[in-house]
Amino acid sequence: MEEISGQQCMMCGKNELTLREDELDIPYFGRVAVFGMSCTACGYKKSDLEPLEPREGAEYTFEVSCEADLNVKVIKSGSATLKIPRMITQSSGPASNGYITTVEGVLERVKSAIQASINGEDDKSVRTKGKNQIKKLNNVLAGRDKIKLIISDKSGCSSIVSDKVTTKKI
Ligand SMILES: [Zn+2]
Repeated sequence: MEEISGQQCMMCGKNELTLREDELDIPYFGRVAVFGMSCTACGYKKSDLEPLEPREGAEYTFEVSCEADLNVKVIKSGSATLKIPRMITQSSGPASNGYITTVEGVLERVKSAIQASINGEDDKSVRTKGKNQIKKLNNVLAGRDKIKLIISDKSGCSSIVSDKVTTKKI
């Protein structure tokens, strides 16, 4: 891993930004470069990744239906859209991070995003809806419920690595 610290942060202007770059070889996906930056002064963080071999744009649909599915590897770039039908859609954009994780890691991230969105929410029906979604995610994480996960990425930089995945070219 390469690391450069003491860089100027574009958010707060202080020279406390650290840049990291790493290369990984992921089975059934290929080699990928992973980038990250984080600022100790203001807490700004950003990560993304890029495959080192060309890949085609695709949409991946995966049904999480048992505990073993939680360990399936997920590669999600900043240009991907992550969707859980009737629950959440996280589009690509400047605030969208790229990361390599597992299905469990994705569900934990979605759970935190829903939790953050209902914290301080005044509308009771919105809070109740969010709480029910978190309950559903907790059941899936405990292997007691099913959920569908869809990742689409026109740049081809993302994947869900499982034989159970349905892949559609986009
Ligand atoms: Zn900063």
